[in-house]
Amino acid sequence: MTKVAVLCSGGDAPGMNAAVRAVVRTGLSHGYHMLGVENGYAGLIDGSFVALNSLSVADILNRGGAFLGSARSPEFRTPDGLATAVANCHQHQIDVLVVIGGDGSYAGAATLVAEGVNVIGLPGTIDNDIACTDYTIGFDTAVNTAVESMYRLRDTSSAHHRASLVEVMGRHAGYIALYSAIAAGADMVLLPEQIKSQEQIAEELIGHQKMGKNHQLIVVAEGWGDSAQLADYLASSTGIKINHDVLGHIQRGGEPSSMDRIHASMMGQFAIDLIAQGLVNQLVGWRHGEYMCMSIEAGLAAKKTLSADMLKLANVLSH
Ligand code: ATP
Repeated sequence: MTKVAVLCSGGDAPGMNAAVRAVVRTGLSHGYHMLGVENGYAGLIDGSFVALNSLSVADILNRGGAFLGSARSPEFRTPDGLATAVANCHQHQIDVLVVIGGDGSYAGAATLVAEGVNVIGLPGTIDNDIACTDYTIGFDTAVNTAVESMYRLRDTSSAHHRASLVEVMGRHAGYIALYSAIAAGADMVLLPEQIKSQEQIAEELIGHQKMGKNHQLIVVAEGWGDSAQLADYLASSTGIKINHDVLGHIQRGGEPSSMDRIHASMMGQFAIDLIAQGLVNQLVGWRHGEYMCMSIEAGLAAKKTLSADMLKLANVLSH
């Protein structure tokens, strides 16, 4: 009987549970033996394998986080850690391991493949920064959470005629920042991909004030730089009072949106369909409106850039 194990790795993302549920239930419908691995690659090393049946994944579709646990495992990146993880996969006779995570987890998957473990990757990260897919599980929920928070902050900054400078997640990519800035009607968005000088930002802020704006919303991606220092600089150089907020981990939590649940479910099914076709060592994605796959090697080599049209739109709408 084909044995398939599934794990969540890296930062948790809303919809990971929906993906696990789809993998497990679709796998069971093919007659596969399904296992979960607790706490990502750390659980592969510890041998934390649990049998999963249809009931094990009941009542998790709407839950944020990762019921199997997710983790970052420095030990997995050591030769001993990898060797133990591989030995445990062989000992449990795992035919295919489904890894739900971000690009770091995919790099980890490539090291498993090199050691003879079959892997399928599903894109689970709020950052939407995985090159081989237009969409990652968790992104929609994170953007919705960020936008809702921005509207709350806008209420208070408008009452006090202040500017609100809000930092959102995105260490290397500005997807959450760009999408939430457009959806929240931000007056400015600062992205790691598009560096502006502090002087330029201050000038734009003053320009908006001269136009008659009595409150402003500036969205900053984490990877842009030090947003607290920027808030101090802007307050002292423009005289405008600034509220500085870092949204932080609230962007990861909460019920997954319907969009995340549907993508997660479809991708989970797609992963099992690949296994049924005998296709492994693939990354599942969604591109140009269709679910697709690409080899792990090609996926890791791909590059992703922000949409030039969306960047243009964010700039035009803010003026
Ligand atoms: P997120 O986008 O949410 O941060 P991620 O999957 O990119 O998710 P990482 O912390 O980068 O998160 O990676 C998860 C785990 O994958 C790491 O803790 C490590 O165990 C493994 N990993 C990451 N990079 C590599 C690599 N280059 N080689 C081997 N394993 C890796």
